[in-house]
Amino acid sequence: ALDIGHDLGRAILNARTFEREHQLVEELQALDTYKSQLIATVSHELKNPLTAIMGHLEMLEASPDLTGTTRTSLAAMERGTNRMVRVVEDLLLLSKVGDPDNPVIPAPVDLRRIVDDVVDLTSVAAERKAIELAVDAPREPVLAIGDHDELDRVCANLVSNAVKYTPDGGQVTVALAACGDEIMLSCSDTGLGISAEDQGHLFREFFRSTNPDARSQPGTGLGLAIVSRIVQRHRGRIEVESELGKGSTFRVLLPAAPG
Ligand code: ADP
Repeated sequence: ALDIGHDLGRAILNARTFEREHQLVEELQALDTYKSQLIATVSHELKNPLTAIMGHLEMLEASPDLTGTTRTSLAAMERGTNRMVRVVEDLLLLSKVGDPDNPVIPAPVDLRRIVDDVVDLTSVAAERKAIELAVDAPREPVLAIGDHDELDRVCANLVSNAVKYTPDGGQVTVALAACGDEIMLSCSDTGLGISAEDQGHLFREFFRSTNPDARSQPGTGLGLAIVSRIVQRHRGRIEVESELGKGSTFRVLLPAAPG
């Protein structure tokens, strides 16, 4: 009888703990939803005034009779406003791709085309740093299934990071391969590399490495958070392999289009 009483007591305690944990999970989920809504609303409210400020700054800068000091101030304001616009746009995208009520509308997407376009767009920045930007992919289309613009964004963020965090004269390679029912998109660089500790936080919103060389590059810390959410909602996976001072490889696995 004592044993039964003991077991019953433990079962009640377990049930209470379970109920409490369940309640906690629900509270955390509600807070997370609130945070996402707050970010979306604030970003939305900031977007229009910022666009207006940009327009006015451009108009003022076009005026012919400005003193040197005024020109310098206007240029500084434009740089600051540009940065705010970029943060707000990234925040809006982050909330869009994190919204469960806005799922991906899947369609076949040619990743080969996306890689070519992204490499084309990034080549100017790479040339400026004498970085060799290479593509290793089949000639024919490589079809994944998902949203074209979102997958373009994944590729663009990874390639622009690789160029940004690779010192002059380095090398960046974007590769594509079909592996069974998955497509692998990888982006390797011979850049700064990422410490094992930082690797654990890379996909968190606003995370930026403490490495001073990486910090000296401009950025918002939102690029990889966006990449990881897009990959997640495409039912894909992302992996990183990196060594400080040697370079990094980001590998994305996405479901291939059937056939
Ligand atoms: P951002 O580049 O705007 O800071 P990201 O979310 O794209 O934001 O990247 C987060 C951080 O991860 C960067 O600040 C940088 O420290 C590190 N990182 C990302 N990609 C690379 C890379 N290819 N090589 C070295 N560090 C990287």
